[in-house]
Amino acid sequence: MTHKALPLLLLALAVGGVWAIRRQQTHPPAQPPLVMAATLADAAAHPEPPGTGPLLEALRSDLQVHRQLIVLFADESALKGAERERALAVGHRLHHERRDLVHQLNGALTRLAALPAAQRDPVVGALLDWMEADPELLELDRLAFRDSLRVLQKSLRQDTTPEGVRLNRRLARDLAEADRVEALVEAEYQRVFGGPGHPAQGGQRERWNAYVADLQHRLPLDTLLKGAAIPSPAAGLAGSGEIDGTGLPAKVLVLSFDDGPHRVYTEEIKAILEKEHVPALFFEVGRNLGAQDASGRIKLGPLAAFTEDLVKGGFVVGNHSYTHAQLSKETGAPLDLEIRETDQLLRAIPGAHSQLFRFPYGARTPLQLQALEAYHLRSVLWNIDSLDWADPVPSSVADRVLKAIAHEQRGIILFHDIHDRAGKVLPVLIPKLRAEGYTFAGLDTEGKLRLADRP
Ligand SMILES: [Zn+2]
Repeated sequence: MTHKALPLLLLALAVGGVWAIRRQQTHPPAQPPLVMAATLADAAAHPEPPGTGPLLEALRSDLQVHRQLIVLFADESALKGAERERALAVGHRLHHERRDLVHQLNGALTRLAALPAAQRDPVVGALLDWMEADPELLELDRLAFRDSLRVLQKSLRQDTTPEGVRLNRRLARDLAEADRVEALVEAEYQRVFGGPGHPAQGGQRERWNAYVADLQHRLPLDTLLKGAAIPSPAAGLAGSGEIDGTGLPAKVLVLSFDDGPHRVYTEEIKAILEKEHVPALFFEVGRNLGAQDASGRIKLGPLAAFTEDLVKGGFVVGNHSYTHAQLSKETGAPLDLEIRETDQLLRAIPGAHSQLFRFPYGARTPLQLQALEAYHLRSVLWNIDSLDWADPVPSSVADRVLKAIAHEQRGIILFHDIHDRAGKVLPVLIPKLRAEGYTFAGLDTEGKLRLADRP
């Protein structure tokens, strides 16, 4: 060996050593969301909630989809035509799989929170340890954990024992940390693109762009775009009687919130709408409301109370299928069951039944539209998509909605009441749009426009 090669060898050894240490710290790849959803669904058959292992894997899987969605829409403004359709369709599939996972995860976290502290706290502690400090996480990943933290917090709020108070403090700290990260990203966004009361200064979203670049390196966009997709044919089919928002009078907007009810966000959004006197539609996923037992009896679950509150508040509720299935693939009895179970669940909630139906992802063909006829249901689509399920930055969601409204000049806006984004953007959007001369209207239970600005 020459004396010149020695430093190179030492360098190689040093790099190799660091690499080996890093490899030891690296977790195995996150499990696909459907795998973890099935694991948690199996565990749900037992009285005890799943232990740390499956819950941690479920959170990692959830984070993985969160990151994939960010990569998919990172260059959204550059996406055109077919490319954008492809990103949207792949995003729908990712979100579709994540929804099953989150449904199971929220149920498992709620059951975990109800256990005695001695069983509960080591598991919750391990999950929070991971969220707070695991080396596999990036700072902006904190934005992915808000929904799970809020679900835990909601379930634990009543616990005033010393252990409960300690855990609540820790959850509050973790949520404050997520808020801090969100505020950094928000401030950066508003500096570049402008915000309420101040003009755009231009420049770059350094923190956000660095995060996205890191994610793009781990999850290349090309690979993501090759994945399975759920196409979203949004415009109403001609002559079908579908309502898609493009036929509303100029400057009239209808808000709609899909996929609930949710144990945290539905009532928060309802409170904002009531404060602003804005009507809205809520399209409910049947399995969130309850189930039909073997003898065909309808049994409402605890979340149905949120839907009942919506109806009491004057909001109109519609059917969004039973499992949030891709109905364009369903025919015959399975298709009928997706429509009927939710129809019956909504009939079991006083005043909640309506003629409004929304196809998940807008995925349908004339065949599925025909299946609605037996139930006298009418398909309601949207022409303004907030993409609030794919974008963790509230100002970015608000800007997307404003741009689409400026383009469409009227329409039905699609939000979701299963994430915190809608609740964050509505208090900004509603007054801004009113100041621009827009009116918020509702649809009645038959789908007719209800022009009164106030319910
Ligand atoms: Zn949906």
